[in-house]
Amino acid sequence: ANALEISNLVKVYDNGFKALNGIDLTVPQGDFFALLGPNGAGKSTSLGIVSSLVNKTSGTVKVNGFDLDSQREQVKRSLGVVPQEFNFNAFEKVLDIVVQQAGYYGLPRKLALTRAETYLKQLDLWEKRDTAARMLSGGMKRRLMIARALVHEPKILILDEPTAGVDIEIRRSMWRFLNELNRQGTTIILTTHYLEEAETLCPNLAIIGKGNIIAQGPTKALLKDK
Ligand code: ADP
Ligand code: ADP
Repeated sequence: ANALEISNLVKVYDNGFKALNGIDLTVPQGDFFALLGPNGAGKSTSLGIVSSLVNKTSGTVKVNGFDLDSQREQVKRSLGVVPQEFNFNAFEKVLDIVVQQAGYYGLPRKLALTRAETYLKQLDLWEKRDTAARMLSGGMKRRLMIARALVHEPKILILDEPTAGVDIEIRRSMWRFLNELNRQGTTIILTTHYLEEAETLCPNLAIIGKGNIIAQGPTKALLKDK
């Protein structure tokens, strides 16, 4: 099955604003895919729907072959989600935040601890494991959210503007991490308004503007005469 299949997806917010005008999007398994577009285009809304953070108005969404409406549990297990806003309890310690998440997925405590250690080390946060999350820098908080999203080893990782507000050095190290994760088989789908991020990381992308997919295809072909 494809990692993601969206068809005719519409979102009308409660205030009547139509943020998505019936978009279609397919991302094959193993891809490293960018949803690229300016602020307000509908990127967060699209991935928010896929991540069950936003309710859709109409249309169908399949994740890893599972239907978002009728197979929500399988969809959740297939996905790791890194939203744009920090949504952990900032007073908790780094390690506890990651281990707790593993608990939600029913992982035994010992495995939860091993996984947490693995990902916190890979994301250069292991020395901060006993630090309260609120003491971390923005870049560290972002990496904490990535570690937390990976603890159940999802097939597909979704990131909403993962490097927004992160300085260039940390951004590069996050890019290296994501590249390696993808190379080892995880499908990655991210939103970005940085052209450079999409060009550097993602072989395939879709360009979204005002709630419509304007183009989808290989990055090289789509961005060749920018
Ligand atoms: P849903 O029905 O998909 O859950 P809602 O329409 O209920 O979405 O809105 C979710 C939240 O986003 C609300 O608390 C709302 O106040 C807030 N919100 C409203 N307008 C905007 C906007 N233009 N951009 C971002 N958030 C907004
Ligand atoms: P992007 O992620 O591309 O910046 P969004 O998906 O956040 O775009 O927003 C798409 C459009 O929907 C924007 O015009 C935004 O103001 C509007 N919007 C987002 N959330 C809400 C909401 N809860 N209520 C009303 N409008 C919203």
